[in-house]
Amino acid sequence: MPSQARVHSIETCGTVDGPGIRYILFLAGCPLRCKYCHNCDTWKKNVGELMTVEEIIADVIKYKPYFKFSKGGITVSGGEPTLQWQVLGELFKLCKAEEIHTCLDTSGYCDLDKGEAFLPYTDLVLLDIKHIDNEKHKALTGVENHKTLAFARHLRDRNIPVWIRYVVVPGYSDDPLDIEKLCRFLKTLDNIQRVELLPYHKMGISKWQEMGLAYELEHVDPPTEDQMKRIRKIFEEYGIQTY
Ligand code: SF4
Repeated sequence: MPSQARVHSIETCGTVDGPGIRYILFLAGCPLRCKYCHNCDTWKKNVGELMTVEEIIADVIKYKPYFKFSKGGITVSGGEPTLQWQVLGELFKLCKAEEIHTCLDTSGYCDLDKGEAFLPYTDLVLLDIKHIDNEKHKALTGVENHKTLAFARHLRDRNIPVWIRYVVVPGYSDDPLDIEKLCRFLKTLDNIQRVELLPYHKMGISKWQEMGLAYELEHVDPPTEDQMKRIRKIFEEYGIQTY
Protein backbone atom coordinates (compact mmCIF):
# COMPACT_ATOMS: atom_id res chain seq x y z
CA MET A 1 0.00 0.00 0.00
CA PRO A 2 1.48 3.41 -0.95
CA SER A 3 2.47 5.68 1.93
CA GLN A 4 -0.04 8.33 2.81
CA ALA A 5 0.62 11.77 4.20
CA ARG A 6 -1.82 13.65 6.38
CA VAL A 7 -1.85 17.00 4.58
CA HIS A 8 -3.23 20.05 6.37
CA SER A 9 -3.05 22.36 3.33
CA ILE A 10 -1.03 23.33 0.26
CA GLU A 11 0.20 26.70 -0.99
CA THR A 12 1.45 26.54 -4.55
CA CYS A 13 3.34 29.81 -4.99
CA GLY A 14 5.00 30.65 -1.67
CA THR A 15 7.86 33.14 -1.72
CA VAL A 16 9.00 33.43 1.91
CA ASP A 17 9.76 29.87 2.99
CA GLY A 18 13.00 29.19 1.16
CA PRO A 19 14.54 30.45 -2.09
CA GLY A 20 12.51 31.20 -5.23
CA ILE A 21 8.93 30.14 -5.79
CA ARG A 22 7.96 27.28 -3.47
CA TYR A 23 5.30 24.60 -3.43
CA ILE A 24 4.51 24.52 0.29
CA LEU A 25 3.09 21.40 1.80
CA PHE A 26 1.78 21.84 5.33
CA LEU A 27 1.68 18.50 7.11
CA ALA A 28 -0.64 17.94 10.05
CA GLY A 29 0.47 17.40 13.62
CA CYS A 30 2.78 19.23 15.99
CA PRO A 31 4.14 18.20 19.41
CA LEU A 32 4.94 21.82 20.34
CA ARG A 33 2.48 24.36 21.69
CA CYS A 34 4.15 27.69 20.94
CA LYS A 35 2.29 30.47 22.68
CA TYR A 36 2.44 32.61 19.51
CA CYS A 37 1.63 29.84 17.02
CA HIS A 38 -0.21 31.20 13.98
CA ASN A 39 -0.99 27.70 12.69
CA CYS A 40 -2.67 26.13 15.72
CA ASP A 41 -5.18 24.51 13.38
CA THR A 42 -2.31 22.20 12.26
CA TRP A 43 -1.64 20.80 15.75
CA LYS A 44 -3.83 17.72 15.57
CA LYS A 45 -2.49 14.74 13.66
CA ASN A 46 -5.81 13.81 12.13
CA VAL A 47 -6.78 17.10 10.44
CA GLY A 48 -6.66 17.71 6.68
CA GLU A 49 -6.77 15.07 3.98
CA LEU A 50 -4.87 11.90 3.25
CA MET A 51 -2.76 12.01 0.09
CA THR A 52 -0.39 9.38 -1.22
CA VAL A 53 3.19 10.38 -1.89
CA GLU A 54 2.54 9.65 -5.58
CA GLU A 55 -0.40 12.07 -5.61
CA ILE A 56 1.72 14.77 -4.01
CA ILE A 57 4.69 14.40 -6.34
CA ALA A 58 2.36 14.38 -9.39
CA ASP A 59 0.99 17.72 -8.23
CA VAL A 60 4.43 19.17 -7.36
CA ILE A 61 5.82 18.30 -10.79
CA LYS A 62 3.27 20.63 -12.44
CA TYR A 63 5.16 23.57 -10.94
CA LYS A 64 8.61 22.59 -12.16
CA PRO A 65 8.74 25.42 -14.73
CA TYR A 66 8.20 27.97 -11.93
CA PHE A 67 10.89 26.32 -9.81
CA LYS A 68 13.29 26.40 -12.72
CA PHE A 69 13.09 30.08 -13.55
CA SER A 70 13.00 31.21 -9.89
CA LYS A 71 15.44 28.62 -8.46
CA GLY A 72 12.63 27.44 -6.18
CA GLY A 73 11.29 24.04 -5.21
CA ILE A 74 9.27 22.33 -2.53
CA THR A 75 9.10 23.30 1.15
CA VAL A 76 7.53 20.90 3.60
CA SER A 77 6.21 22.71 6.65
CA GLY A 78 3.55 22.17 9.28
CA GLY A 79 2.78 21.66 12.07
CA GLU A 80 6.01 19.80 12.63
CA PRO A 81 6.71 17.94 9.38
CA THR A 82 9.28 15.54 10.85
CA LEU A 83 6.45 13.82 12.74
CA GLN A 84 5.68 12.24 9.35
CA TRP A 85 9.32 11.34 8.76
CA GLN A 86 8.66 8.30 6.60
CA VAL A 87 6.50 10.05 4.00
CA LEU A 88 8.82 13.03 4.16
CA GLY A 89 11.73 10.77 3.20
CA GLU A 90 9.81 9.11 0.37
CA LEU A 91 8.60 12.43 -0.99
CA PHE A 92 12.00 14.13 -0.87
CA LYS A 93 13.61 11.12 -2.55
CA LEU A 94 11.13 11.39 -5.43
CA CYS A 95 11.73 15.16 -5.60
CA LYS A 96 15.48 14.66 -5.92
CA ALA A 97 14.89 12.11 -8.72
CA GLU A 98 12.98 14.96 -10.45
CA GLU A 99 15.78 17.44 -9.67
CA ILE A 100 13.47 19.50 -7.46
CA HIS A 101 15.08 21.52 -4.65
CA THR A 102 13.88 20.28 -1.25
CA CYS A 103 13.49 22.39 1.85
CA LEU A 104 12.31 21.38 5.31
CA ASP A 105 10.71 23.96 7.61
CA THR A 106 11.05 22.56 11.14
CA SER A 107 11.36 23.29 14.83
CA GLY A 108 14.06 20.60 14.90
CA TYR A 109 12.03 18.66 17.44
CA CYS A 110 13.01 15.37 15.87
CA ASP A 111 14.83 12.21 16.94
CA LEU A 112 18.10 12.01 15.06
CA ASP A 113 17.58 8.41 13.92
CA LYS A 114 14.36 9.49 12.15
CA GLY A 115 16.38 12.06 10.22
CA GLU A 116 18.10 9.22 8.32
CA ALA A 117 14.85 8.81 6.37
CA PHE A 118 14.78 12.32 4.88
CA LEU A 119 18.04 14.19 5.49
CA PRO A 120 19.93 12.43 2.65
CA TYR A 121 17.41 14.09 0.29
CA THR A 122 17.14 17.48 2.02
CA ASP A 123 18.84 20.44 0.30
CA LEU A 124 18.03 23.11 2.88
CA VAL A 125 16.58 23.27 6.39
CA LEU A 126 14.70 26.28 7.76
CA LEU A 127 15.33 25.73 11.45
CA ASP A 128 13.25 27.59 14.01
CA ILE A 129 15.14 28.01 17.24
CA LYS A 130 12.41 29.18 19.57
CA HIS A 131 14.65 29.90 22.55
CA ILE A 132 18.24 29.15 23.51
CA ASP A 133 17.45 28.91 27.23
CA ASN A 134 15.90 25.55 28.02
CA GLU A 135 13.55 26.71 30.76
CA LYS A 136 12.32 29.66 28.70
CA HIS A 137 11.95 27.38 25.68
CA LYS A 138 9.79 25.09 27.75
CA ALA A 139 7.67 27.98 28.96
CA LEU A 140 7.22 29.30 25.40
CA THR A 141 6.66 26.01 23.57
CA GLY A 142 5.78 23.34 26.14
CA VAL A 143 8.89 21.25 25.31
CA GLU A 144 12.63 21.35 26.05
CA ASN A 145 15.11 22.62 23.47
CA HIS A 146 17.62 19.72 23.67
CA LYS A 147 16.28 17.97 20.56
CA THR A 148 16.36 21.18 18.53
CA LEU A 149 19.94 22.00 19.51
CA ALA A 150 21.06 18.41 18.86
CA PHE A 151 19.31 18.54 15.48
CA ALA A 152 21.15 21.80 14.67
CA ARG A 153 24.52 20.18 15.50
CA HIS A 154 23.58 17.11 13.48
CA LEU A 155 22.82 19.27 10.44
CA ARG A 156 26.23 20.90 10.86
CA ASP A 157 27.92 17.49 11.05
CA ARG A 158 26.13 16.45 7.86
CA ASN A 159 26.96 19.78 6.23
CA ILE A 160 23.34 20.49 5.31
CA PRO A 161 22.72 24.20 4.67
CA VAL A 162 20.50 25.89 7.24
CA TRP A 163 18.54 29.11 7.50
CA ILE A 164 17.89 29.93 11.14
CA ARG A 165 14.62 31.59 12.09
CA TYR A 166 14.08 33.32 15.41
CA VAL A 167 10.84 34.92 16.50
CA VAL A 168 11.34 38.01 18.66
CA VAL A 169 8.61 38.11 21.29
CA PRO A 170 8.94 41.10 23.64
CA GLY A 171 9.32 39.92 27.23
CA TYR A 172 9.82 36.30 26.15
CA SER A 173 12.65 35.96 23.64
CA ASP A 174 14.30 39.40 23.49
CA ASP A 175 16.57 39.34 26.56
CA PRO A 176 20.00 40.56 25.34
CA LEU A 177 21.80 37.90 27.42
CA ASP A 178 19.77 35.15 25.74
CA ILE A 179 20.43 36.67 22.32
CA GLU A 180 24.16 36.65 23.08
CA LYS A 181 23.94 33.01 24.13
CA LEU A 182 22.11 32.21 20.91
CA CYS A 183 24.81 34.01 18.89
CA ARG A 184 27.53 32.02 20.63
CA PHE A 185 25.68 28.81 19.77
CA LEU A 186 25.25 29.86 16.14
CA LYS A 187 28.98 30.61 15.91
CA THR A 188 29.63 26.89 16.54
CA LEU A 189 27.69 26.03 13.37
CA ASP A 190 29.49 26.57 10.06
CA ASN A 191 26.55 25.56 7.85
CA ILE A 192 24.33 28.57 8.55
CA GLN A 193 23.58 30.44 5.33
CA ARG A 194 21.13 32.96 6.68
CA VAL A 195 19.61 34.15 9.95
CA GLU A 196 16.08 35.55 9.82
CA LEU A 197 14.66 37.55 12.72
CA LEU A 198 10.89 37.49 12.67
CA PRO A 199 9.02 40.07 14.73
CA TYR A 200 6.24 38.49 16.77
CA HIS A 201 2.76 39.26 15.44
CA LYS A 202 -0.78 38.45 16.48
CA MET A 203 -2.12 37.32 13.13
CA GLY A 204 -2.90 33.80 14.33
CA ILE A 205 -5.08 34.94 17.21
CA SER A 206 -8.38 34.44 15.38
CA LYS A 207 -7.57 30.74 14.89
CA TRP A 208 -7.07 30.38 18.65
CA GLN A 209 -10.42 32.01 19.23
CA GLU A 210 -12.11 29.80 16.63
CA MET A 211 -10.70 26.73 18.35
CA GLY A 212 -11.84 27.96 21.76
CA LEU A 213 -8.25 28.23 23.04
CA ALA A 214 -6.98 30.92 25.40
CA TYR A 215 -4.35 33.12 23.74
CA GLU A 216 -1.91 33.96 26.52
CA LEU A 217 0.07 36.60 24.62
CA GLU A 218 -2.89 38.90 24.02
CA HIS A 219 -1.19 41.58 26.14
CA VAL A 220 2.09 41.39 24.17
CA ASP A 221 2.60 43.92 21.40
CA PRO A 222 4.85 43.25 18.40
CA PRO A 223 8.41 44.57 18.85
CA THR A 224 9.05 48.12 17.71
CA GLU A 225 11.56 48.95 14.97
CA ASP A 226 13.95 50.14 17.71
CA GLN A 227 13.64 46.90 19.65
CA MET A 228 14.39 44.93 16.49
CA LYS A 229 17.36 47.16 15.70
CA ARG A 230 18.83 46.57 19.17
CA ILE A 231 18.59 42.83 18.70
CA ARG A 232 20.05 42.96 15.19
CA LYS A 233 22.97 44.92 16.61
CA ILE A 234 23.81 42.12 19.04
CA PHE A 235 23.96 39.65 16.15
CA GLU A 236 26.16 42.09 14.24
CA GLU A 237 28.55 42.31 17.19
CA TYR A 238 29.01 38.56 16.79
CA GLY A 239 29.58 38.98 13.07
CA ILE A 240 26.19 37.52 12.16
CA GLN A 241 24.17 39.29 9.52
CA THR A 242 20.41 39.10 9.97
CA TYR A 243 17.50 39.49 7.57
S1 SF4 B 1 6.29 24.48 16.04
FE1 SF4 B 1 5.20 25.76 14.57
S2 SF4 B 1 3.22 24.74 14.26
FE2 SF4 B 1 4.12 23.87 16.11
S3 SF4 B 1 3.26 25.08 17.78
FE3 SF4 B 1 5.21 26.02 17.22
S4 SF4 B 1 4.73 27.61 15.73
FE4 SF4 B 1 2.94 26.23 15.89
